[in-house]
Amino acid sequence: MGFLDGKKILVTGVASNRSIAWGCADAMHRAGAEIALTYQNDKLKSRVEDLAGQCGSNLVLPLDVGSDAEIESTFKALAEKWDGLDAIVHSIAFAPREQLEGDYVDAVTREGFAAAHDISAYSFAALAKAGRALMDGRNGALVTMSYLGAVRAVPNYNVMGVAKASLEANVRYLAASLGPKGTRVNAVSAGPIRTLAAAGIADFRDMLKKVEERTPLRRNVTIQEVGNAAAFLCSDLASGITGDVLYVDTGYHILGLG
Ligand code: NAD
Repeated sequence: MGFLDGKKILVTGVASNRSIAWGCADAMHRAGAEIALTYQNDKLKSRVEDLAGQCGSNLVLPLDVGSDAEIESTFKALAEKWDGLDAIVHSIAFAPREQLEGDYVDAVTREGFAAAHDISAYSFAALAKAGRALMDGRNGALVTMSYLGAVRAVPNYNVMGVAKASLEANVRYLAASLGPKGTRVNAVSAGPIRTLAAAGIADFRDMLKKVEERTPLRRNVTIQEVGNAAAFLCSDLASGITGDVLYVDTGYHILGLG
């Protein structure tokens, strides 16, 4: 018996076997859930299909969250396969590379700000809206991925931190909106992990090293650990938790680095 037995979970944001979304899909599959995955574009399709196979799934759908039409067609296709949906994992972020480097005020532009907020924050609300009908009456859960840059000014993280602050506010507003229907909404705030998205942040290696040296557990977190926490938040074990941000960062966020 797994603690996600019988649950149907849509996991977005798998780009490789280093993706946090893959840590989630794998942990959720091991806990007994049935998994559907999405891929952003055709370049990623076969890789995501291979990974889906590794978690016993052949339900793999295209989803570019920058397109309302694509969001609609993804959920339409999902509804043809599944009679309901218990959880959505949103593990998607984007900001133009030049935004993630140097001084915030120098780097930020109207276009960069809008793109980061659209893809990294609005898309969570868009998935909640599109998935609402399928999730109705199932005491479901939504989980997204945030980072400490939402609440602290982290060098080079810049506009992505501002978008993560918006994402965390989104968690609270969605939790208040969907709670009366029984749907819970939470975020995991993960410590830094070497992934494709992280490679876009200037001096990311340095960030990993600094965290490892200072954080209470003296190591960086893994996608397996983030996946386990997301699996818990999607499960009935977390039935009393909504609107919250759970830090899975080997304790780094508690430090006062004076
Ligand atoms: P990743 O590159 O593996 O995943 C990012 C995903 O976003 C990719 O699958 C990409 O295809 C998807 N994506 C980007 N634009 C999209 C669009 N328009 N439509 C659909 N999908 C789109 O990197 P990751 O680190 O696993 O990132 C997943 C989430 O975790 C992000 O929200 C990221 O900000 C967050 N996060 C990452 C770290 C870290 O250090 N890696 C730490 C905390 C939070």
